[in-house]
Order: sequence, then C-alpha cells, then structure tokens
Amino acid sequence: MSHEANALTTDYTLNSNDVATFDAIIIGAGFSGLYQLHTLRDQLNLSAVVFDVAGDVGGTWYWNRYPGARCDSESYYYCYSFSKELQDEWRWTELYPQHDEIRRYLSHVADRFDLRRDIRLNTRVESAIFEEDTDTWLVSTNEGKSYRARFLISAVGVLSSANVPNIAGLDKFAGEWYHTGNWPHHPVDFSGKSVGIIGTGSTGIQAAPVVADQAKHLTVFQRTANYSVPARNRPLSSDDQQWIQDNYDEIRLKARTSTNGHPFDVNQESALEVSDEARQQRYEDAWTKGGLRFRASYRDLLQDKSANDTASEFIREKIRQVVKDPVTAEKLVPKDHPFASKRPPIDTNYFETFNRENVSLIDVKATPIVEITETGIKTTDAEYPLDVIIFATGFDAMTGSLLKIDIRGVGGRTLKETWAQGPRNYLGIQVPHFPNLFTVMGPGSPSVLTNNPVAIEQHVEWIRNCIRDMNDRRLSRIEPDPAAADEWVEEVNRAANKTLLPMASSSWYLGANVPGKPRAFMPYAGGMAYYANLSREIAENDYRGFVTR
Ligand code: NAP
Repeated sequence: MSHEANALTTDYTLNSNDVATFDAIIIGAGFSGLYQLHTLRDQLNLSAVVFDVAGDVGGTWYWNRYPGARCDSESYYYCYSFSKELQDEWRWTELYPQHDEIRRYLSHVADRFDLRRDIRLNTRVESAIFEEDTDTWLVSTNEGKSYRARFLISAVGVLSSANVPNIAGLDKFAGEWYHTGNWPHHPVDFSGKSVGIIGTGSTGIQAAPVVADQAKHLTVFQRTANYSVPARNRPLSSDDQQWIQDNYDEIRLKARTSTNGHPFDVNQESALEVSDEARQQRYEDAWTKGGLRFRASYRDLLQDKSANDTASEFIREKIRQVVKDPVTAEKLVPKDHPFASKRPPIDTNYFETFNRENVSLIDVKATPIVEITETGIKTTDAEYPLDVIIFATGFDAMTGSLLKIDIRGVGGRTLKETWAQGPRNYLGIQVPHFPNLFTVMGPGSPSVLTNNPVAIEQHVEWIRNCIRDMNDRRLSRIEPDPAAADEWVEEVNRAANKTLLPMASSSWYLGANVPGKPRAFMPYAGGMAYYANLSREIAENDYRGFVTR
C-alpha cells in the first residue's frame, strides 16, 4: 500500500434520510455473492446487502436450466470448502451435478447461513457512482431506490450475459426460441417438434443429445467443430461418498495448489518423450475415465503445439470411429484450433447423437446462416423448417454483465470507456480510478480457467481480508496504482502467450464471439496456485501496487 497523506476516517453513518447505507453492497447472489455476504456480515460484522435481478439465489445456475445442463467439474469439488460442517452434511448424488442439484445446494447454503434476509432479489443494479467527498458508492436500482456503501463488490459472474446473435428475421420467427443461458422455468416440450440448435460449445454439446431424445427432428447448426471428451457421468455410490468424506482434506488441498483448481495430478511427462504406444494407452485410459482430466494427460498439452497435436489427433480419430457416416464425421472433426485452446467441453453421447435417424448436422461455416424466416432457418444452401430454435451461442463473457451497469469512478469516468480497448485492472480484482470497487473473478484473474469455486473462494477471502485491513488501519479508500495495472495487463498477455490458448481465434476467452467487443485475452493463464500466492504476498507486502488513504 502506498499511503497518501492524511489517512482519514469518513463518517460512514453520514446519510440522507432516503438512502440506506451499508458497509458493502454486493451485486450477484451466485457462488461469489453468497460467500462474500457471509464473510463480510458474519466474519467481519459489517453491514452488507446483496442485489440480484434473478428471482432466487443461484447465479449462473438460476438461468442455465437448459436440457442437459450440468457442471463439468465433479460435484464434490464444485462446491464451497470454507465450512467443514457444510461439507460434512451435504451429499452429492452424481459425479457431475445437474443444474437443479446445484441450485438446491446454493439454496441450502443461503438458508443454512441465514443469508436471505440480506439479499434483495428481482432487483437490478442500474448504476454505481463513486462520490469522492465521502469515498462511498451511490448505487441505484431499477426500483428507483438508492443505496450507499463504502465498498462495492461485483459478484455478477463471468458467464451471465447471454449472447443472442443478431441474425436478421428473428423477430418474424413464428415458432418458439430460447437462449440456453436464459432458459424458461416451465418445461419445454420438444416432442413431435422440429428443433434447431445453433452452437456447439460446451452448452450445445450438452443439450443436443437430450433434445434429440425427445424431438421429432434435431438440426444442429455448427459453425466451428469442437473437441469433446466423454464425461462418464454416474450416480455416486455409498462407497464413493465414503471415499470423498475420507479424502476431503487432501482433495481440497490438491485443488487449491493446482494450476486449474482441480484436484488431480497433471502427468509430468512430455507427450513427446514417450513411445507412441505408451501415449496411445494413456489417452485411451483418459478417454475411458472421461472428464476434464483428459487435459492432464501430459504436462505440455497446452504449451507445445506438437505435444497438443497428439491429443488433438487422438480425439479426431475417436470422432471418426464413433460417427458412422464419414461425411458427417469429417464435418464434426475440429481442424482449426488445438484441443483445449477453447474451453474443452465434456459430453454424454454427443458424437453418438449424429448416428440417430432424427438428427442432422449443418456446417454453417460452409453454408452460412442468411436469415431466420417465419418458419425456420435459411442458409446460403437451403431452408430448414423449425418449430423451435435454441441459441446455444454463449455469453458476453467476463465483462458483459459488469459493463451493463453504469459504473462511474473518480471524475465521473465510466468503466465502459475505461475498458473500451479491453479490461485493464490489477490482479483482476481492482480497477485504477474506481476506488473500493472489487471484482470477484474479474478479467485478469484465473477465473474461467479454473474450477470456479476455488477461484471464487480465493477472491472472496482476499477481498474480506483487504476490507478488514483497511478498517484496522482506518483507511477509507483503496485502488490500484495505474502503473501496477499496466504491468498486470502485460503479465496477463505474457502468461497467455506462453500457452496455446490465443490460437483459438474465435474463442470467448478473447472476446472474439461478440461483434464489436475488443480482442483481448481476458483470463489469467499463469495458474491458480501461483496467482493465489502472488495475491497473498502482495497483500502481506503492504498491498504493493495499491494506493490507499
Ligand atoms: P460458447 O463456448 O461461446 O459456444 C457458442 C457456440 O455458438 C459456438 O459453437 C459458436 O461458434 C456458436 N455461435 C455463436 N454465434 C453464432 C452464430 N451467429 N452463428 C452460428 N454459430 C454461432 O458458449 P457455451 O457453449 O454456452 O459455453 C460457454 C462457456 O460456458 C463454456 O466454455 C464453459 O466455460 C461454460 N459452460 C460450462 C458448462 C459446465 O460446466 N457444465 C456448461 C456449459 C457452458 P464459434 O465457435 O464458431 O464461435
């Protein structure tokens, strides 16, 4: 912390009659916001309130209820670790939890820690203005009410702003259409219907097999072919449950000290230093076991293109073996980016789905979508009659939800203008000239490259400790030194460029999926454990790179 002169304490009770005042305002009631409320209210004894536009807690899982929606991290470590009691009392039923089970878990957390009384649902934060005379944030909501707080914490999520592509004619479509990230709460019945799904990312790959099971016909509109590894989901047996409980300490420790927040070991061999037979066997074993662990088969899969080629080629061959029609198989084989340079999906019977009589695949890179008509989707080649269109077209990731709020820092500058060329911040957690604003899982932090709860707990606890230290030192304001933020942006780019991640030119990691969004590699690829240690060391060294007063 470099201290400016005259450290002062503000009279935080300073208030006009119609503005409720809190120590902290938290935006978002998902994994991040719930835990942040618990840390500030119950551990620091501060007053805090959470706003969320949703009708219940759950964050991304409140919205993503599409058919097949389940988590790609294994249930018993896609959850909080901060409370041993919570961990001991909750039992996950499946290896990969379905969306409703995760909602039940988060609802249980909200009840168990009595969080709901400080959560305002169905409330959208519309603006947040930093007022320099009091070093507080003035926050306005869609109800026309205003609130004031010393600290503003964005817990808005990284994949929460649905991206519906601007395809001509959608307004004329006479059938039903849905975006997966904004799925209705009532059941959607596909039986007897012709359904089209646009998008073959993690979401489309999860949804297509489930929709195909019900629909009269499913047409998958694929722009970029994707790699996917079988999830091998299964119910957790009582033996599994026992193993989890017996090994929880080690599982949590491993997750926290890993590169991606997953509790599995990355094989420390290079894919290039073993025999072809040994490599083939390792990939076969990983394929049979399933899940994101496939990526951990060799240490250099994401660093060395030749090493990656071996894994990419293995998956391509698997696709060719699974999909019976060779023309369809070849369309499904990804050729333009290395395996895992985009977030790798895992699936249940995705490639097998294309062997069904009622499923067809349209390559919309070869024959692009021209428009949506009253009755279906028209490409340069043909028109496909549809009753339902599903957009599995992803998100304005990492910055979308935050930039929808009119956030104004020192001198009235907006966050939107400040990030016009891409996000610029320090450690992904604070932005210069936006004092006392913290961004949980902000761009520039490991966030989406991790098993999210690990990254969330690290950020939430860092923010809690920072606020505690500020209170102990009677400081009223913290923000990054602009030079520290510049250096951090360079470090984010440096870390990305040591990997193959920037090679996927259409990836949402780069903002490339949203027209007009600046191209900047957003998550920090230097590793979760390294990042957590660095963040801790910076805090211990008097918040090096931050300016306080
Ligand atoms: P995504 O990875 O961004 O995929 C979107 C898909 O839509 C891509 O295939 C994209 O093609 C296609 N698309 C977008 N606009 C299009 C257009 N105008 N015309 C044709 N195709 C278009 O989105 P997502 O699948 O929702 O996944 C986003 C992230 O959410 C994942 O990477 C993952 O991190 C997370 N997620 C997690 C889980 C889980 O844990 N269970 C499940 C689902 C999602 P291009 O590739 O050509 O752009």
